[in-house]
Amino acid sequence: MFDIGLEVSVKEYLGLLKDPYNLLKMANELSESLNGNRVTYVVNRNINFTDKCINACKFCSFRNRSGFILTHQEIAGKVKEATEYGCTEVCIQGGLLKKADVEFYCSILDSVKSVSDHIHIHAFSPMEIVHMARNSGVSIDKVFEILKEHGLGSMPGTAAEILVDEIRHDICPDKLTTREWVEVVKTAHKNGIPTTATMMYGHIESWEDRIKHLLIIKGIQQETGMITEFIPLPFMDQNNELGKMTSSPDGFEDLLVIAMARVVLYPEIPNIQASWVKMGIKLVQAALHCGANDIGGTLMEENISKAAGSVSGEFLSKEMLESIIRNAGREPVERDTLYRPVRRE
Ligand code: SF4
Repeated sequence: MFDIGLEVSVKEYLGLLKDPYNLLKMANELSESLNGNRVTYVVNRNINFTDKCINACKFCSFRNRSGFILTHQEIAGKVKEATEYGCTEVCIQGGLLKKADVEFYCSILDSVKSVSDHIHIHAFSPMEIVHMARNSGVSIDKVFEILKEHGLGSMPGTAAEILVDEIRHDICPDKLTTREWVEVVKTAHKNGIPTTATMMYGHIESWEDRIKHLLIIKGIQQETGMITEFIPLPFMDQNNELGKMTSSPDGFEDLLVIAMARVVLYPEIPNIQASWVKMGIKLVQAALHCGANDIGGTLMEENISKAAGSVSGEFLSKEMLESIIRNAGREPVERDTLYRPVRRE
């Protein structure tokens, strides 16, 4: 019998897939044991500052689509709109500009700070961190020290894709390695910068690869305790090279991944997000009964998924997010980036 409290092997986790409905039920029970009936969301804005990129990940539909680079004024304008809407967070990521160094990324943080001193800045993927460290000839540790001085609050744990190097070699050969990803995330934590963790699944990887990925995330969390949430991201197959070889996972697979993530990461990571942008609203509602306890943010714009064929739109208001949660039979709670409840007068 499967005992959740003990060290469990990859093989034992794989065994759970033999009874998928039991896996979904188990995940729901574990989620409720940690979060009760509460489901969280965040009022935030995504800002992609450029789609130009020197990398060529095979699953990417975003790179070089229109070749834009936002000016500092444009970034500040978007932050202003975000604060007017009541956002508690801006999430900032972009493609890799050839010469972008630490100073360049700090100037983006400064643009945000010029508008608001208190909005939380959740920014720059582990890949961007490695890129700026290389371009500036400084250590990852130093990069975080400098970014923190300029107001970085937390880092998205993106660029993780699947943390198995054979898979990375096939889908994103020029991206940072598994070892580097782990090092960047742990170095962020060492510098007092929390991160999320993600997994992009549903392309050429196996269930075994997914479980290995989840166990790496769990291992980091056991060491540092500074991963705020885990976000499974289904592969989107439009307008990219990988999409010519394989197609997006179906909805039942999405639910099983959410459930497996909940079971493997229990109890270390209490928050599992079902992303409405990637999964669509109805599937997200189902996911709230299969292990997920968060539905992400208002976003206000989301260029990356849109380029890859997402039909879920670019913006959901705070009221819409609340009604999605309520209609799924859960109780909505607004949170900030670090999962503290937000109280509005
Ligand atoms: S996923 Fe990111 S790093 Fe890879 S090509 Fe796209 S923008 Fe560049």
